[in-house]
Amino acid sequence: MENILVTGGGGFIGSHLCDFLLEKGNSVICIDNFGSGSSKNIEHLKGNEKFSLIEHDISENLKLDQKIDKIYHLASRASPIAFKKYPIDIMMTNSLGTFNLLEISRKNNAPILFTSTSEVYGEPEEHPQKETYNGNVNCNGPRSCYDESKRFAEALFFSFNRQYGTEIRIVRLFNTYGPRMRSDDGRVIPNFANQALKNEPITVYGDGSQTRSFCFVTDTVKGLYKMMESGKSGPINLGNPVERTILETAKLVKKLTSSDSEIIFKSLPKDDPTRRKPDITKAKEELDWNPEIDFEEGLEKTIDYFKQF
Ligand code: UDP
Repeated sequence: MENILVTGGGGFIGSHLCDFLLEKGNSVICIDNFGSGSSKNIEHLKGNEKFSLIEHDISENLKLDQKIDKIYHLASRASPIAFKKYPIDIMMTNSLGTFNLLEISRKNNAPILFTSTSEVYGEPEEHPQKETYNGNVNCNGPRSCYDESKRFAEALFFSFNRQYGTEIRIVRLFNTYGPRMRSDDGRVIPNFANQALKNEPITVYGDGSQTRSFCFVTDTVKGLYKMMESGKSGPINLGNPVERTILETAKLVKKLTSSDSEIIFKSLPKDDPTRRKPDITKAKEELDWNPEIDFEEGLEKTIDYFKQF
């Protein structure tokens, strides 16, 4: 049994990770300021004596009085709507916040995992994206607060590793979906599911020919765990390599909800990547990880979750 710190543990992916680590018999300390996470995501864990919550903004200094064995650092707002509303907050979380967590890792001699992102590849000129691709990021566009601060955090991780020998793990998450995603942060799966369930127009941005590859959250969580236990530094891509257009995705959600919604087209946001698909050869070879949940099955579970609202 280990004492594991999870930043962003009240978030969509973080809360599933807390569940997973607790089920394995560990103690989990969740840090969240609920900037984008929600206390509802971890409400079911409140009576669990192996679970504790520290409500705290990680960009502010944090002192912990207990020994930490491992750290999963997920905290950051991550949706394009948040990029518009909270760009400075995002940059501080990924820079000062990451520094604070690396210091905790160093003091505790605890391996630390960072959830970087496919956004480090920007508008990719290489397809699918391998970890060796250095990316094509606009350093001052509307997504730059996220893309560049995640890139900075990767660099800071490697700097701690080089200077202090900190045990680091970096994964790059591609689009992830599932229950507990926020309804109101503008991401494509919650938008389409909610629109379809309410028989409102399904809003496809651009002509819908842009692609994404969607990984179900339980697959992602298993990948995070395998990465932590692997002892590898990475970076390693974690995502589902099945690529779909956004229009195709809209049609599938409409079908699965038996919705009468019409599909309408709206303007494409600036710097919205045209194509995105991970090359997961490294995750397969080095972590023996492969996503298992297919898109229809995952979408049905996600749609069921949104039905309760
Ligand atoms: N998108 C869309 N309609 C929506 C929300 C998003 O067509 O209501 C598109 C968006 O332009 C992007 C893709 O879906 O091409 C994925 O968007 P999301 O915000 O979920 O994540 P991203 O991969 O862009 O960070």
